[in-house]
Amino acid sequence: MDDVKIFLSEKELPQKWYNIQADLPEALKPPLKPDGTPVGPQDLSPIFPMELIKQEVSQERWIEIPDELLDVYKIWRPSPLHRARRLEKYLKTPARIYFKNESVSPAGSHKPNTAIAQAYYNKKAGVKRLSTETGAGQWGSALSFACNLFGLECTVYMVKVSYDQKPYRKFMMQVWGGKVFSSPTNLTNSGRAVLAKDPNSPGALGIAISEAVEDAATHDDTNYALGSVLNHVILHQTIVGLETQKQLKIAGENPDVLIGCVGGGSNFGGFAAPFVPEKLKGKNIKIIAVEPTSCPTLTKGPFRYDFGDIAKLTPLLMMYTLGHSFVPPAIHAGGLRYHGMAPLVSLLLNKKIIEAAAYPQNTVFEAAVTFAKTEGILPAPETAHAIKCAIDEAIKCRETKEEKCIVFNFSGHGHFDLASYDKYLSGKLEDYELPEEEIKKALGELPEMK
Ligand SMILES: *Cc1c(COP(=O)(O)O)cnc(C)c1O
Repeated sequence: MDDVKIFLSEKELPQKWYNIQADLPEALKPPLKPDGTPVGPQDLSPIFPMELIKQEVSQERWIEIPDELLDVYKIWRPSPLHRARRLEKYLKTPARIYFKNESVSPAGSHKPNTAIAQAYYNKKAGVKRLSTETGAGQWGSALSFACNLFGLECTVYMVKVSYDQKPYRKFMMQVWGGKVFSSPTNLTNSGRAVLAKDPNSPGALGIAISEAVEDAATHDDTNYALGSVLNHVILHQTIVGLETQKQLKIAGENPDVLIGCVGGGSNFGGFAAPFVPEKLKGKNIKIIAVEPTSCPTLTKGPFRYDFGDIAKLTPLLMMYTLGHSFVPPAIHAGGLRYHGMAPLVSLLLNKKIIEAAAYPQNTVFEAAVTFAKTEGILPAPETAHAIKCAIDEAIKCRETKEEKCIVFNFSGHGHFDLASYDKYLSGKLEDYELPEEEIKKALGELPEMK
């Protein structure tokens, strides 16, 4: 078979999301309040609608996707699975490389998969406005797109460095009707506290989360939306892995290696989760989560309870973390600059069902350029972490002469990241390996929980 793309018809769109909580070898530890007691639905209801809170804790294996949502998914789904034949040839590898192309969504990444679901359930619950944070703007643009579709207002707290340096995603959000603020702002207590200490703060995802959560908690008609980390976000993203399974079957393939990049863990989690039951039944699948060496949550952080944000407004989550006060260096994969990791992805790593790898950004951009030159599509710097790992796995196959099937998730395109490509091409990109002392320092501020 010489096909380059494997399509599904709209009729073959998955009708249910897969909830991996039903198949975990051990239940997730509950989110905790700072006093150590578990967080209940009533604690989350000021900022999330009940349907999403139910999904967050559900143990049901399959959760129905509402028809109204399937209709919206059809704007760009099912997304194609590509065979990277030109990259294989370039690498002279006997491996077969596939990638699931999530860059075809209106916002250019996997993020609308959960944004539209979150907007839908909030609209049904009578909410008028959603508040959120965004780093480089991927999540803010996905949520602005989704809110516009369902008639909700959208307020986005955008990390200041990106607001100043990456205006194009801001304009994209504004086209879809989103209101964008440079975080830290003077609009929230959390923002004012940061500015009082450092009027020139460049901002950070943890700070912007504090602002967005505070906004939702202090306005009755407003809820909060998170683009990653939480269980319900990964649930919505499983549509990616479920489609991939159907497409691999059509191609007559059984995957040997599955790869995704990780920031908060949602594209990787949604892509890999549907394959975990097969692995638990004994099938030999290597599943790799890839992160930057400058924000090495899975490869260097401990597995413990920590807050999701700097102001400690979120519950404590059991996860791999570099400490909630950790502000990662300004690397060019903005979406991977988060101190924590999805509790679901964290548990899978802790149980050795998945493994983790980290790469410095220059080798990642080198892989991105190789991919753009062979396959044509220009990847987001986040996505390029998965590409780098896939290339390394394919090169190993060349050396061992193994004909493995390698599949990675192409989480988004890099059309708004060209300034970073310019830096790489002109040799101005710096590699950064986080010193152990800095990790120790950030972890020293963590609360002791049992
Ligand atoms: C946001 C983003 C990521 C990282 O977020 P996850 O929740 O870990 O998936 C990766 N790739 C792209 C293109 C993104 O926009």
